[in-house]
Amino acid sequence: MSDTTILNSSTKAGCIKRIIFIFTLSFFVRHPSSFSQSYWQQRIKYVMDVKLDVKTNIITGKQKISYTNSSPDTLSRVFFHLFYNAFKPGSMMDEEVRRTEYLVIMKDAKGKDITDYDKRFKYRIPDTKPGEEGYCHVSQLLLDGRKQEMQEHETILEVRLDKPIAPGQTVMMHTIFECQVPKLMRRSGRDNVEGVRYSLGQWYPKMSEYDKLGWHNDDYTSHEFYGVWGDFEVNITLDKNYKLGASAVLENSGEIGWGYDKDGSELKPVNDSVRTWKFKALNVHDFAWVADTSYIHFTRKIVNGPLLHFIYKYTDSAQQKKWYDIADSSVLAYPYIAKTFGLYPYPAYSFLHGGGGGTEYGMACMLRGAGLDGAIHEWMHSWYQMMLGTNENLYAWMDEGFTQYADTRVQAYIQKDTGFIYAGDYDRYYKLAKSPLAEPMSTPANFFTTNFAYNYNAYYKGLVFMEQLGYITGADTRDKIILEYYKQWRFKHPTPDDFIKVAEKVSGMQLQWYANYWMNTTKTIDYKIDSLWLDEQGTNLRIKRLGEIPMPLDVMFIFKDSVKELHYVPLSLMYGAKLPEDTVSRKVYEPQPWTNTTIVIHTKRRLTDVITVEIDPSQRMADIDRKNSKLELKW
Ligand SMILES: [Zn+2]
Repeated sequence: MSDTTILNSSTKAGCIKRIIFIFTLSFFVRHPSSFSQSYWQQRIKYVMDVKLDVKTNIITGKQKISYTNSSPDTLSRVFFHLFYNAFKPGSMMDEEVRRTEYLVIMKDAKGKDITDYDKRFKYRIPDTKPGEEGYCHVSQLLLDGRKQEMQEHETILEVRLDKPIAPGQTVMMHTIFECQVPKLMRRSGRDNVEGVRYSLGQWYPKMSEYDKLGWHNDDYTSHEFYGVWGDFEVNITLDKNYKLGASAVLENSGEIGWGYDKDGSELKPVNDSVRTWKFKALNVHDFAWVADTSYIHFTRKIVNGPLLHFIYKYTDSAQQKKWYDIADSSVLAYPYIAKTFGLYPYPAYSFLHGGGGGTEYGMACMLRGAGLDGAIHEWMHSWYQMMLGTNENLYAWMDEGFTQYADTRVQAYIQKDTGFIYAGDYDRYYKLAKSPLAEPMSTPANFFTTNFAYNYNAYYKGLVFMEQLGYITGADTRDKIILEYYKQWRFKHPTPDDFIKVAEKVSGMQLQWYANYWMNTTKTIDYKIDSLWLDEQGTNLRIKRLGEIPMPLDVMFIFKDSVKELHYVPLSLMYGAKLPEDTVSRKVYEPQPWTNTTIVIHTKRRLTDVITVEIDPSQRMADIDRKNSKLELKW
């Protein structure tokens, strides 16, 4: 990323901003779902008025929530997340973190124990001093003006409704809440290690999502998020000297100034000791913000794309250069990103300095200085987390894995990398696959036994799922799947089945078998070159399947005269075959039954002509033992 140095095209953003915003509003006009009549999703609109007291670190606020029950079900209860209740000694998150703190998962290169402790936790929760813990409590909740009965279950608020919400009904809820911002231990809080005062993600009473599987009132134990699609209007009042960034558009930029109205402008003076920042975000499922008195703000406009905001605190010149590198890389990469993964339709995106490592929030991310290299990763979450809003707790791999896939691909584009760009990611998957700590990728994020199994499944096995899909369907077809998935499911909550359905339709192949093996089991792939022998017709090659997952096979012969021959053996389960991926001459076999453990292929060339034979020279098939996949012959 830092290799790229494209000069700022210095587009004047002021008036363009408004035009883009209007364009984007029309982009968001919702059409009735034509591809699936049975799909529905809840809809929410939050209007929040909040005050942050920068001396006590307490947020007091009111929410006006309009909630539409689009489900066919009558709801007699609703649930909210109160994430900040996790940041205190004795919480469920504390228990989980302490359970993994000394759990040895592997040895490092010097034979030293590596424990499962998530190093992104900057402070141990049991060490929290008074006033450093977090809390979030709702003192009153009215539904259509009537007071409702509530019960707090640590990070979940259960609201028992006096009158159920009928299918199709829209209700108004009014809450009064108070939250104490914890000292930043992980992701959200105050006074992070780089001195950023406020990094506020998951900071407000956030309604749980209800979908075809029911309520997703998952306890917060440091893992993932899932929210209701909707609009946010958030008015934040705090000390006038603070400067803010958010995952939204600033509505009163004329009053605020500070680069929001025009490049390089100062924060406008006010008479009062406090000021109010008014943010708005449409068609998202979360809202996050940061605040500090010494932030610096600059913007870049992407042609036919969003206005990028960079809001950071000066630490040193090397770090400052990185913020400009992110700007350069983002502008450079956007046309490729849009072409490969679909357009970024929101008017703005903010790279915000804060948090405890990279975390994504739809129209923004928080980055710690040391984690600037993760900027593209976090931005790609706008596709695989925000727009394609999978339930991150149930299908973390469709969020982190697909994002990691996109990140590696975009980084390779920026750095003009060729060759097998996913080698490092595959290696991490192999580490998981060979570990006794491996668990199925379909394990809910909260229920993995180790952070190791969660991380390596979500990020790397999830990435391999996508790249290996390209091995099965052909890379061009996989790329069409990526765009069709985006087209059909953006602004919705896709599940693995939804993705596979798109993949099957685009490729004309059956692929449920692949998803089942890859998601629901820890079974692995291993094909071995067993033997070669000569007969009157030429040379035969016997391949043995040692792994439990059957796969289609690409087998490449290279002969003494440099001629290459690709032998392609589809799998019976696919009910289809991929098209040639390049110009190498290819022999296509009858599909092999998935039960077969021996596959024999044949070339007309003589055995003594063969110098190399290799199963999947592209390396996209995640064969856990590649040593037995290639044979080099010396004659
Ligand atoms: Zn991520």
